[in-house]
Amino acid sequence: MRSVRPAAPQLAGLEPYDPKYLPACALLSANENPRDVGEKLRREIMREVARVPLNRYPDPLANDLRDLIAEANGLSREQVLVGNGGDELLFDVALAWGGPGRTFLNLPPTFSVYEANARLTGTAVASVPRRADFSIDEEAVLARLAEGDVDYLVITSPNNPTGALAREEFVLSVLDATDALVVVDEAYFEFSRRTVRPYLAQHENLAVLRTFSKAFSLAGVRMGYLLAGERVVRELAKVRQPYSVDAVSQAVARVVYENRAEFEPGIQSIIEERARVAEGLRAIPGVTPFPSDANYVLFRMEDASSAWEALYARGVLVRDFSRAPYLEGCLRASIGTPEENDAFLRALREVAMGKC
Ligand code: PMP
Repeated sequence: MRSVRPAAPQLAGLEPYDPKYLPACALLSANENPRDVGEKLRREIMREVARVPLNRYPDPLANDLRDLIAEANGLSREQVLVGNGGDELLFDVALAWGGPGRTFLNLPPTFSVYEANARLTGTAVASVPRRADFSIDEEAVLARLAEGDVDYLVITSPNNPTGALAREEFVLSVLDATDALVVVDEAYFEFSRRTVRPYLAQHENLAVLRTFSKAFSLAGVRMGYLLAGERVVRELAKVRQPYSVDAVSQAVARVVYENRAEFEPGIQSIIEERARVAEGLRAIPGVTPFPSDANYVLFRMEDASSAWEALYARGVLVRDFSRAPYLEGCLRASIGTPEENDAFLRALREVAMGKC
């Protein structure tokens, strides 16, 4: 049997994306919405899905959905692009603005997919690490941009996994300081209720990324969208996989987006629970939570990886970042239902008090 020649060199050192998703009573590791879509909406979704022709290719650009999103955001269809999850759109950005001889500016610790995409596309990665409290080192970012070689960057607001918003004044100063494409990743925007979308009108180099996976309970469907100027959307449309957003997902997302007001009580509950979880964490000796504007809280503690194991043994799955660069000793818990959050806090209290 012939052996296979090595894969492309840029794959060396990369690992497949693995969120360590395991079965558990309280699934608090992936920042999903703990509530599935309600029964009434599910029935409506199924009615629409039943009418989807399965033998025909979908509308490649999902124009009906683009129109809905555009209208809700005061934009034109040409300023909206939908993708197979925000993840696809992030890869499209790397394909279109990265590549050999080009540079991506990363602000770690942040969503690991950005750097992986840059590496996969042969893009050089420049890094300006966050400060110890995970705030952006704003002066250092502006100084790095002044070198003039950065082609694109992502400002994650709120940042994953650390939780806080980027300052709006900082985003504006970045937009003025560079002609790089500035993607503001607002995957968690519905939980922060803060957006830089209004600045799209004045800044051709701004793109805003959103997802249906969090607030709209559709992580299982894979749907994300990007808002930007027409020029940016036109370039990104060139690198998209044909038909990456299938007809079933388009139908589901249309119904969900038209009924998005129904998610508001669940979002409000998560925002309130976030404050309660943060307070509960602060009350546990040896546990330090970081401020969050999203649907998760990052916290630091001694022996975090053993704590992760002990939490899992108690039926609570959180995300272990304790060995990740910049995040030593950190775990991240998504905000679940009040019952799940109680189970998490109770388990962590036991673990921290040494009842392993
Ligand atoms: N951006 C950030 C910051 C995220 O945390 C995620 C999901 N983990 C995404 C983008 C992508 O979300 P999706 O592909 O599910 O739309």
